[in-house]
Amino acid sequence: MVQSSVLGFPRMGGNRELKKANEAYWADKLSREDLLAENKRLRLAHWKIQKDAGVDIIPSNDFASYDHVLDHIQLFNAIPERYSSQGLEPIDEYFAMGRGHQKNGIDVPSLEMVKWFDSNYHYVKPTLQDNQTFKLAADPKPVREFIEAKEAGIITRPVLLGPVSFLHLGKADRGSTVDPISLLDKLVPVYVELLEKLKAAGAETVQIDEPVLVYDLPTKAKAAFKAYEKLVGDKLPKLVLATYFGDIVHNFDVFPSLQSLHGIHVDLVRNPEQLEAVLGQLGPKQTLSAGVVDGRNIWKTNFKRAIEVVETAIQKLGQDRVIVATSSSLLHTPHSLDSEKKLPAEVKDWFSFAVQKTSEVVVIAKAATDGAAAVREALEANAKSWQARSSSERTNNPHVKDRQSKVTAAQHERQSAFPERYAQQKTHLKLPLFPTTTIGSFPQTKEIRIQRNKFTKGEITAEQYEKFIEKEIEEVIKIQDELKLDVYVHGEPERNDMVQYFGERLDGYVFTTNGWVQSYGSRCVRPPIIVGDISRPAPMTVKESKYAASISSKPMKGMLTGPITCLRWSFPRDDVHQSVQAQQLALALRDEVVDLEAAGIYVIQVDEPALREGLPLRAGTEREKYLTWAVDSFKLSTAGVKDSTQIHSHFCYSEFQDFFHAIAALDADVLSIENSKSDAKLLKVFVDKAYPRHIGPGVYDIHSPRIPSESEIKDRIAEMLEYLKPDQLWVNPDCGLKTRQWTETKAALTNMVNAAIFYREKY
Ligand code: GLN
Ligand code: ZN
Repeated sequence: MVQSSVLGFPRMGGNRELKKANEAYWADKLSREDLLAENKRLRLAHWKIQKDAGVDIIPSNDFASYDHVLDHIQLFNAIPERYSSQGLEPIDEYFAMGRGHQKNGIDVPSLEMVKWFDSNYHYVKPTLQDNQTFKLAADPKPVREFIEAKEAGIITRPVLLGPVSFLHLGKADRGSTVDPISLLDKLVPVYVELLEKLKAAGAETVQIDEPVLVYDLPTKAKAAFKAYEKLVGDKLPKLVLATYFGDIVHNFDVFPSLQSLHGIHVDLVRNPEQLEAVLGQLGPKQTLSAGVVDGRNIWKTNFKRAIEVVETAIQKLGQDRVIVATSSSLLHTPHSLDSEKKLPAEVKDWFSFAVQKTSEVVVIAKAATDGAAAVREALEANAKSWQARSSSERTNNPHVKDRQSKVTAAQHERQSAFPERYAQQKTHLKLPLFPTTTIGSFPQTKEIRIQRNKFTKGEITAEQYEKFIEKEIEEVIKIQDELKLDVYVHGEPERNDMVQYFGERLDGYVFTTNGWVQSYGSRCVRPPIIVGDISRPAPMTVKESKYAASISSKPMKGMLTGPITCLRWSFPRDDVHQSVQAQQLALALRDEVVDLEAAGIYVIQVDEPALREGLPLRAGTEREKYLTWAVDSFKLSTAGVKDSTQIHSHFCYSEFQDFFHAIAALDADVLSIENSKSDAKLLKVFVDKAYPRHIGPGVYDIHSPRIPSESEIKDRIAEMLEYLKPDQLWVNPDCGLKTRQWTETKAALTNMVNAAIFYREKY
């Protein structure tokens, strides 16, 4: 029989109960006991959902109060001394590492948190010491939670992050130089001990995640998989090694070390083509866990296609050696579609969130076991839904397709090269040396949120809301006058979110009311969903920018979110290549850019902070292909303007080494980038590659309320001038100011402008 399996379930709960409980606990409004009880309640509820759906293999230890990698840091006692020496309760020590702790005389910042592969989830980085040791926690969480489920009548398959991934995803602590992977021999015995305990508790099989297998791995990391030979034995549970978000074909040389494992899980949604090769690698008794239900997106699985894939595997392995699984943990999908009351019924029928996906693996497994007739109704409904989706007017807009077919190479290019453009912009915009600007948003005050809420709820009219926004714009312009900035912004008071705002004004998008996905810790995001061909029914930002320009004495910068960021921070379609969706977004934005210019906006910034996170995980052809269409979509959206109009772009980071050629190829007149928290040395790449255009490396950190002094900013600029020419340099903060208060914003910007004036007079 073909079994069904889920690799992990979202932790938040249907109403983000975990977020609420954590935040209440942090605010001293919930006791520790109540927090732990709420965690337990959520775990049990999630197991029950899967059990009721009929899932054969249900995960445990996939739940985490904050982050599952952080769980393992604590599980192995890989806790830096600055946390372990504080005498905190385990749960507080855990949160201290995850989010810092500033209470009762203790003051420790958090461990570093970074993106989990190419998802929007963030994990806490294992931070290791030169003299690192590991020791299994006294009451190991995976064992505790296995027993908890067992007591509730559910036998689970515990999930562990494997030793190679744990180390490879980690780093040496400040002041240490240890190569994490060199600690493997110390770590493996702890895994053995843990696995023994799991087996003793009754766990027959364990899912061990080694997602780093989708990366290009250094030789040492590959060699580390030899450790798996030690994780097999009579006293140990059987292991299913799970990989996701990519293919593992390039790492097949590690397979000899995995030969004794019970099974291998691969992501056949992202890389279906790896199936044949993987089948060829499996040992004579090994099981394949086939990830055919997308853990990263919200679309209903195409049953027909999924069953075909599973059947290919069955032909080679037989039913008992094939498991139908989600492609990855369902952590990256919202909890349940049931709470969506406002989605158009037509569209809702195309979606499947975590709860629904648990049923999908069951149906596919049943079809593969007993034949299609056994689940005929489900298959028919599914085929009908897919058919309706592919022929819906919502998904197909002939005007958009027609326009895409006529896109030319010339549309991607500005009229003249940068020197000619710059000459025109200089006279047109009359900018001084070291021009000052901000990145777009100004503080989103409580009043702004209140008014927006009232408007959304229909408590004030559109006209009243517009008046309010105008007043906000007037205010920020007055403030920018006082600050003597050179290029103004309108402050973005009308925008709830930099992607949602545009999505709501484009055809082809829909929005959920409760489709929250964990981003990190207690923070969740609710990505818009691209359901069909995208087009712009009407201008989206022109009214506000035009009004702002009409009352400003200085150039007003229009502010747009770029095509790649709109795509990456949404759930994209799975029926059309992402490059096609990016081009549709680009065409919509191109019209907006041209309309802004016609309305008298001659500086236009198109933000692309998500460009880097879209980079395919491995270097090579796939990455280059992505960069080509990503760059093309930016150029297509911006190149429709006259030479005298200045195009800016913004990135929230300055590590461009890996793909500098793409950043250069954007051909933006001005780039504003994060730089205050990273090293000015990163600017060297601009010198090495003789980058000719203008750059505004952030001179201060906007994530903290701290006010940078004028002399500090002058020092920053001095450092930047070691790399960039005076007439190349803009002066601006790292990013938008929406999370700041006005008092610190004014003070910081005053110092920033004074520092710029100092250099202006000097040069
Ligand atoms: N223009 C946006 C802002 O200022 C940019 C935000 C971002 O880069 N994440 O808020
Ligand atoms: Zn930014």
